[in-house]
Amino acid sequence: MGRTYAIRTFGCQMNEHDSERIAGLLEDDGYERASVLEEADVMVLNTCCIRENADNKLYGALGRLKAVKAERPDALIAVAGCLAQKDRELVRERAGHVDVVFGTHNVHRAAELVDHARRHGPVVEILAETVREDTEAFPSALPVRREADHSAWVTIQIGCDNSCTFCIVPAVRGPEISRPFGELVDEVRDLAAGGVSEVTLLGQNVNSYGRDLALSRRGSANGNGNGQARAGDDAWWCGSQWTSDRRARPLFADLLRAVGEIDGIRRVRFTSPHPKDLRPETIAAMAAVPAVCEHLHLPLQSGSDAVLKAMRRGYTAERYLERLRAARAAVTDLAVSTDIIVGFPGETEADFVQTLEVAAEARYDSAFTFIFSPRPGTAAAEMIDRFVPHDVSVDRYERLRRVIERSSRLANEARIGRVEEVVVEGPSKKDPAVTTGRTRRNTLVHFGSPPGEVPPTGTYAHVEVTAAAANFLQGALVDIEAPRAAPAQATSGRRLIPVAAS
Ligand code: SF4
Repeated sequence: MGRTYAIRTFGCQMNEHDSERIAGLLEDDGYERASVLEEADVMVLNTCCIRENADNKLYGALGRLKAVKAERPDALIAVAGCLAQKDRELVRERAGHVDVVFGTHNVHRAAELVDHARRHGPVVEILAETVREDTEAFPSALPVRREADHSAWVTIQIGCDNSCTFCIVPAVRGPEISRPFGELVDEVRDLAAGGVSEVTLLGQNVNSYGRDLALSRRGSANGNGNGQARAGDDAWWCGSQWTSDRRARPLFADLLRAVGEIDGIRRVRFTSPHPKDLRPETIAAMAAVPAVCEHLHLPLQSGSDAVLKAMRRGYTAERYLERLRAARAAVTDLAVSTDIIVGFPGETEADFVQTLEVAAEARYDSAFTFIFSPRPGTAAAEMIDRFVPHDVSVDRYERLRRVIERSSRLANEARIGRVEEVVVEGPSKKDPAVTTGRTRRNTLVHFGSPPGEVPPTGTYAHVEVTAAAANFLQGALVDIEAPRAAPAQATSGRRLIPVAAS
């Protein structure tokens, strides 16, 4: 075996996708994947500073790797991601055994920086911002080592133009930059040709996708901007009605429609839209394009207008609910998930009760709930005089959890007796005799298969739901579709293979 690498990822899907790209770059450079981090020749920690305790987790992991480095001085330790972007030189000041530090704007340099460190010693390279012309800045434009063959993430936009007071993303990821429309469509077409049937479009605020492209195109047309449209986009622009459309195009809805129409793509997901930017066009595209899954992740954060204002979220609770109602009215069978923070600085009991009321009215299928924890460098971290006592936050968290669990359970129980299309994700982690899949509404389903007939990962199957809990469904396999043919002979025809009920 040649040189090896391993990556530990802390954080969100954007980070996981960045890790896939770092893996792809290292494999392109001849490295092979090791299954144990501590045994690899290159140990990468891809960090996140959004999640709680990110610093402790990173520096704890680096502390443990110090002994590994002492035993194998030739092994390299690299720290990447948001926390590296934020801490910069501090990473090496606190952990001098780290060899490479790079941030969120130069993921594409991972292999070069590792090589540089091997030849010349430690290197820290943090760029202040992404260069728009540099298509490699988008993780999706780099080589990839995907975790699943049937499913792929596609980064459509990096950065964020908002200024939510609890969030460090704008500081570490920079302003929004959308990836050119034509490039994205081409990439998804290539993915489909390679056997991918499910794509998840990623961005910090997917719904504002294209805003910067339209602005730069207008600047370009007026001769006073730095228009960055690329060849791939011109075909879309000139060959469509956009030329006569006075609105800013492309919209995120245009992308949903274009990606959803690609032959072989059966499921399109996206995360996350900002409630203030959830446009009617997006809802209409979700309703009109069969491939777009019936799932909307719409972060609420708080149900109190006062807290939403302090968070600088740009909507009221009623506005949020209005948009949710519009989405539910348009998209049949829509599942809705959310993010909620409890104990934001200044949150009173009355504010929190409003969050409970909105959560109950929203009837969430699932939610990520968090107790506020200050992120250094954010405005909310400075609101020390308004911090909510921890025991109060814990109590609120528990009360909210019960409200969410009730609606999740009810939503799942309503599925009993239905036959759901699932994509097989593999054997259950707890019981290998049980197969796990995911519905279009993004619910986990556990089901048994006759011995010797366990469908491979990526197979589309139909499962009759027989039982429900708050976080998953149980069911019985009805039939499976013939596994997709090798890409060269792939057809879009579907053949169902009935399975005897177990
Ligand atoms: S929309 Fe707000 S929470 Fe989301 S990434 Fe941007 S600043 Fe952060």
